[in-house]
Amino acid sequence: MQTLIEREGHAAVAESIRVVLARLRQEIADAQLDEKSLDLALGGLSAAVARQLRQSLSYSLLPLINATGVILHTNLGRAPIAASALDHIRATANAYSNLAFDIETGARGKRDVHVDRLFRKLLDDELPSCARMDPSAPPATSLGASAKRAGSRGRTSLRGPEQTNATAISTIVVNNNAAAVLLALNSLAERGEVIVSRGELVEIGGSFRIPDVMSKSNATLREVGTTNRTRVADYDRAINEHTRLLLRVHRSNFEITGFTDQPGLDELVALAQRRNLPLMEDLGSGALFDLRSVGVNDEPGVLDSLRMGVDIVTYSGDKLLGGPQAGLISGRAELVARMRSNSLFRALRVDKLTYAALEATLLAYVKRDHDAVPVLRMMRLSKDEIALRAEKIVSRVDPARLKLELLDGESVIGGGAAPSAVLPTRLIALTHSHLSADELNARLRAHTPPVIARIDEGRVLLDLRTVFPEQDANLTTALASLA
Ligand SMILES: *Cc1c(COP(=O)(O)O)cnc(C)c1O
Repeated sequence: MQTLIEREGHAAVAESIRVVLARLRQEIADAQLDEKSLDLALGGLSAAVARQLRQSLSYSLLPLINATGVILHTNLGRAPIAASALDHIRATANAYSNLAFDIETGARGKRDVHVDRLFRKLLDDELPSCARMDPSAPPATSLGASAKRAGSRGRTSLRGPEQTNATAISTIVVNNNAAAVLLALNSLAERGEVIVSRGELVEIGGSFRIPDVMSKSNATLREVGTTNRTRVADYDRAINEHTRLLLRVHRSNFEITGFTDQPGLDELVALAQRRNLPLMEDLGSGALFDLRSVGVNDEPGVLDSLRMGVDIVTYSGDKLLGGPQAGLISGRAELVARMRSNSLFRALRVDKLTYAALEATLLAYVKRDHDAVPVLRMMRLSKDEIALRAEKIVSRVDPARLKLELLDGESVIGGGAAPSAVLPTRLIALTHSHLSADELNARLRAHTPPVIARIDEGRVLLDLRTVFPEQDANLTTALASLA
């Protein structure tokens, strides 16, 4: 005990002794111990205390190996942040920083400036050029392809030629997208009505439901259309003197198929402009990266929506953007300014760690260094690259008891991208001579670090798309121990 006390302190050791003795007393009271096992338990007391101490002083939040192939898995912490984000946190968070201080003037500054300038490069600088864009010209950037589709429609009435300065689009950061939607609705529509299609009244999980957020924001939800079909005329008819906002919500985690109708974003933009109302879109995932380049075609990007003429978009920082947990609100500067001056903004704002991680992540986008952002790197991995790593792992595991097969499958983007947004991959399928898939899975979870896999048709499936290459050796060890 004395050596433990010297290492971990008296209080922690005393606490562990109390826990171990209480457990032993309980076992005696429950008559679970005969004399022999009591002797044994007493003999092992110091080891039990050391074990308890280790457990109580170790972290509960742990890194693990995500072999599910779901790139944005909310239960597994969504986006792993970039190495540069971590470096920037380390450099600025364990020292003082100019978080809200203007070094040049010595005056108080705004914390927004650190990321707003980068969002402007990524969003605002792209907009004026698109209004002039020649559709036959090659895209200027990896995001350029969308301009051809979206055209210059809509945007021009909000920012005429005289308005193509770099201040029209601004972005603010709050705790998460749920907070972004709450703040935006409260700022733009308090005590007024917001029109939403009945086909878009989503629940995201963890109690984010559009009707509930609406009532918390003190705005009134005005439902239009039906579950499967809503037309732009439905919105038009519902507009009255109390209407403050038209809201489009990305369906994120479900799809409606069959006899369906949903107005195009261009139709909503035209309606909003004709009736002089702002149009907001809750994008959910909100990609700043052109997913068409990895073969995912129907996922709307932030820039697509702004180019179309949507006034305000809200999206998460830790979904397709690949950064820290955050809620981003981008759009027309005068509307964003109303949100910034809302007292809710202060309650929902984020700290310096988030700004540091976000700034580093956005900088990778500005430099077009997409592989620096882990979720983008994972999305861009080809099936062949994944197959090569899978073959190497399979060749290193003894197949006597554990059978490993390679098969074609699909990785899932997840995190608010459409459920059908999948990428082709190569899977390792596991079956064991005397362990069931559930037992195999439990043993993988019990490994250090834990390995999380999925089960399909009695087999455990491992997808290396979401496993960092430097974890391959660890994964091999986990499989070898099962074999
Ligand atoms: C994910 C999502 C949200 C919630 O975002 P958080 O960042 O988790 O708060 C809200 N709306 C939509 C459409 C989403 O996909």
